[in-house]
Amino acid sequence: MPANMAGILKHLAVLVAAAALAACAGSPPPLAEPGGLAIVGAQLIDGTGADPIPDSVLVIRNDRIVAAGPRATTGIPAGAEVVDAAGQTIIPGLADMHAHYGADADTALEMMRTQLYYGVTTARSIGTDNPEQVALMLEAHAGRPDTPRLFTAGRGFTHPGGFNAGAQQPASTDEARAMVRALAGQGVHFVKMWVNEMPEPGLKITPEMRTAIVEEAIANGLVPVAHIDEEADGRQLVEAGLGDFLHSTVLTFGPGSGAPMDDPAPSAEFIRMCLDNNVSFTPTLSIVQNNWHFADNPELLDDPDLRAAMNPQALERWSDPEARAAVVEADNFEDRKAAFRQLQDFVKTMHDAGVRVALGTDSGTANVPMGWGTHHELELYVEAGLTPMEAIVAATATSASVTPPVGEAEFGTLEVGKIADLVVLDADPLEDVRNTLAIDGVMKGGAWVEREGLLPVR
Ligand SMILES: [Zn+2]
Repeated sequence: MPANMAGILKHLAVLVAAAALAACAGSPPPLAEPGGLAIVGAQLIDGTGADPIPDSVLVIRNDRIVAAGPRATTGIPAGAEVVDAAGQTIIPGLADMHAHYGADADTALEMMRTQLYYGVTTARSIGTDNPEQVALMLEAHAGRPDTPRLFTAGRGFTHPGGFNAGAQQPASTDEARAMVRALAGQGVHFVKMWVNEMPEPGLKITPEMRTAIVEEAIANGLVPVAHIDEEADGRQLVEAGLGDFLHSTVLTFGPGSGAPMDDPAPSAEFIRMCLDNNVSFTPTLSIVQNNWHFADNPELLDDPDLRAAMNPQALERWSDPEARAAVVEADNFEDRKAAFRQLQDFVKTMHDAGVRVALGTDSGTANVPMGWGTHHELELYVEAGLTPMEAIVAATATSASVTPPVGEAEFGTLEVGKIADLVVLDADPLEDVRNTLAIDGVMKGGAWVEREGLLPVR
């Protein structure tokens, strides 16, 4: 070793010792690379489920998080723009894994902008997109500043004459495989199928067809997902290679739904199967509960943001006292609530068993408002028995983990190296999860979102 090198090393050792001393004294060393943005003083919830950091420093450079930790040990780079967020809470941007975006690209764009206003920075469009909408989704995937990061399944699959009427209805497995390849050619990310007895018995997509779709999706690098309603279908799909299902195995759609089941709990065998295959699911409690929530809680309609986000026909319906009374005074209202409680128990049972629960809402259907609905789903998870922290993990890290490349998301948590998608809140969601709606600012990909003007004006 040359003598001057030894001198340099000695000098470095002195510098390191000085830095360590400074850290002990409570003034952390500044980060080597200057500049960037530092959000200082907030409670930081990073989305991993780790304990919140009460007085944090979060440093962002370009689109990435470059430092995150307690103020006492996390340096602020020289020349960084410092944002004081004392008294506030930072959570990762929310990811909604089940949304639908209307009939055309203009409507879809309006709905996406509404989601972003509400801090939904990632979303999955799940099976109802025409080619024009797919093109818009791919733009949103690549990084439009006024939309969430979108993933799409294009148009999903069903049995001829089955649910959902707008879906692709292959007559043979060969035709189904060709349709999946065509979707891959469009550049979509997922392949969706509806597996249930609707609109009448006998119209459920067959096991043979489902297996062909799952196999062809995987062969083309797409992620297969399925709307299910019954456990037997869930098992068949997992055996076929599906790793992510939508809704639950508590009868929710079609004949017989809306009344409590005799045996709604998932079987030990199904839970085992999900765990062994690392299966995730997205329960979408909102699509059920929002069918009466505004009838039961009309005061919510005083919120101008919610009114703007709501489907106009739904807003008109729930603004009408007679329409509300027809729901809450109906003979079957208590039954519907009891059946929904079974659905929440299913989510809690699966979650406690260790099955990965993502967050999705069916936002964009009539009664589930874009953006607002994503926050409300968190509330329904907490009502189901998850802690606010567990609900936030579902809506961030776990949801991100189901997007392709599966398990490798670069967003969803506020850890060093991840993409900076975040929401700054004026109130603590760990005290009341509804505080995720107290939004002060939204950042996507390291840039503050211009929220003003994102909500539709009608
Ligand atoms: Zn749906």
